[in-house]
Amino acid sequence: MPRNYILALDQGTTSSRAILFNHQGEPIGTAQQEFTQHFPHDGWVEHDAEEIWSSQCTVIRELLTQQQIDKRELAAVGITNQRETTVLWNRETGKPLHHAIVWQDRRTANLCSQLKQDGLDPTFREKTGLRLDPYFSGTKLKWLLDHIPAAREQAKRGQLAFGTIDSWLLWKLSNGRIHKTDTSNASRTLLCNIHTGQWDEELLEILDIPRQLLPEIAPSSSIFGEAELDCLNQVPIAALAGDQQAALFGQTCFDSDRAKNTYGTGCFLLRPSGPNAVASKHHLLTSLACSTDQQLRYAVEGSVFIGGAVIQWLRDQLKLIPSASDSETLAQSVSDNGGVYLVPAFAGLGAPHWDPHARGTICGLTRDSNAGHICRAALESIALQSADLLEAFNQDFGNPLEQLRVDGGAAKNNFLMQFQADIMQIPVVRPMITETTALGAAYLAGLATGFWKNCDSLESQWQIERRFDPQIGQQKAAELKYNWRRALERAKNWSE
Ligand code: ADP
Repeated sequence: MPRNYILALDQGTTSSRAILFNHQGEPIGTAQQEFTQHFPHDGWVEHDAEEIWSSQCTVIRELLTQQQIDKRELAAVGITNQRETTVLWNRETGKPLHHAIVWQDRRTANLCSQLKQDGLDPTFREKTGLRLDPYFSGTKLKWLLDHIPAAREQAKRGQLAFGTIDSWLLWKLSNGRIHKTDTSNASRTLLCNIHTGQWDEELLEILDIPRQLLPEIAPSSSIFGEAELDCLNQVPIAALAGDQQAALFGQTCFDSDRAKNTYGTGCFLLRPSGPNAVASKHHLLTSLACSTDQQLRYAVEGSVFIGGAVIQWLRDQLKLIPSASDSETLAQSVSDNGGVYLVPAFAGLGAPHWDPHARGTICGLTRDSNAGHICRAALESIALQSADLLEAFNQDFGNPLEQLRVDGGAAKNNFLMQFQADIMQIPVVRPMITETTALGAAYLAGLATGFWKNCDSLESQWQIERRFDPQIGQQKAAELKYNWRRALERAKNWSE
C-alpha cells in the first residue's frame, strides 16, 4: 500500500486532536475531543494524564475510521503538545502518581520567589534561556517529589519516570518501551542547558531532581520508535515538538528573517535565531527550536498570557457577543476606539512586562462609550500587546522584522489582523493553512521518514491566503501606542 499520509497528534491544553496530512501538506481530516480541566485550588490547574491518553486514542481511531485510512497508508506519526505540563508516572505499572500539573498552574510561585532570593535567577537564565517562573516544569516536578510520599526515594531507585506530554504520549504509544523527549520540549523544563542540549547536573541538584527520572533528549525530527497501539501498529513515531516551536516550523520560519505570532488563548511570538542562542536584553525568552539533526537551533519567544481569551471574556463574562467571531462586527460598529483602552492583565502581564501583580483595567471611558468601543479596545489590546513584543524583538535582534506570519483561532479576525498591521507598521500575512502547529509536527515526521525531502520542498507548500498592509500612518500608530502605554501603567502593580 502506498504510504500517502502523515498523522499529526496535536495534544493541546483543552483538547486532543488528530489531523491527517497529504503530500501537499493539506489537512484532509480532523478529529477532536475535549477533556476535563481540574482546578483543585485557587491558581492550581491539573489534567488527568490517563484522560489525555484516552482522548488521544479516541481521536486517532475516529479519524482513521472516518477517513477509511488503514495504518499501512501512514508514513509516520508526529506529536506536538502543550508544553511544560508535568507528568510523573511509575515505570512498572505505567500509572501516573498524581494529576499532571498544567503550565498555567501557579502553585510553585513561592518556591520560585525563594530561589530568586537565593540569587539563582541568573544561573537559570543563563543556562536555560528562561526565568524562574512557575510556568516551567522544573519546580512543578520538584513539587511532586516533595509532596508525594516516598516519591523521591522511588525516583532514585529508577522506578519512576518524568515527562512533559510528548514523553507521556510516546511512552504510552510505544507500550512503555520508549522514554524520550525532544529539544523543543526539553528546553521549557528549566532543567535543560540550552547550550549543550542536555540535562544540567547543577540545575538538577538545585531542584533536588534525581537524574534517573529524566527522558533521553533527541532531535525533534527523528525516528523515536514504532507505535504499538492496535490501530497504529508499527507506524514510525518520527517527531516530537512543543506546540509553539512546531507552529514556527509549520510556518516555515526556518531563519531569522521570518517570525510568527499565534493568536490563541494567549499570543506567542517566536523568531528563530539559527545556531546561535540570542540572550534577550528585553525580557524575552530563549528556547530550543525544532531540530532536524544533531545541530541545536534556537528561537527567541515572547508570550502574552491573555490574547484571544479576552474575547472569551467579552462573550462569557460580559455577554457582549454571542460568539468570538461576532467581535469583528461589533468592533466595526464604531469608527475608532473612542479613547477607550482595555488592558487584559487578568493573570498579570507576561513578556515583556512580567508583572504578576498587574490586573485588568479599562481606561478612558466617557458617557459616550458603548459596547462597540469596549469590544474594539479588547481586540486592539491583543494587537497592542503583540506590538510590545515586536518592539522587544527588534531591539534584541538589531534588524527589524519586515513582516509577520500569523495563525491561531483569533487570526481569523480580519479587523484584528488589519489593526495588527497598522499598529506594527509592517505587513501581516495569513497562510492558507492555519493549522500550523499540527502541520509543523507533520513536517518534522515527514522529513525524518523521507516523506518530504528537505526544508526547501516545504517552503514551496506555504501559501498566502491574505496579506494585511498598514493603512494608517506612523504618527497615528505612535499616538495609539502612547495611550496604550499610559493605560498599561495604570494596570501594573495593582494587586497587593
Ligand atoms: P487555543 O489553541 O489556545 O485553545 P485557538 O487557536 O483555538 O486557541 O483560538 C481560540 C481563541 O481565539 C479563543 O480565546 C477565542 O476567544 C479566540 N477567537 C476565536 N475566533 C475568534 C475571532 N474570530 N475573533 C477573535 N477571537 C477569536
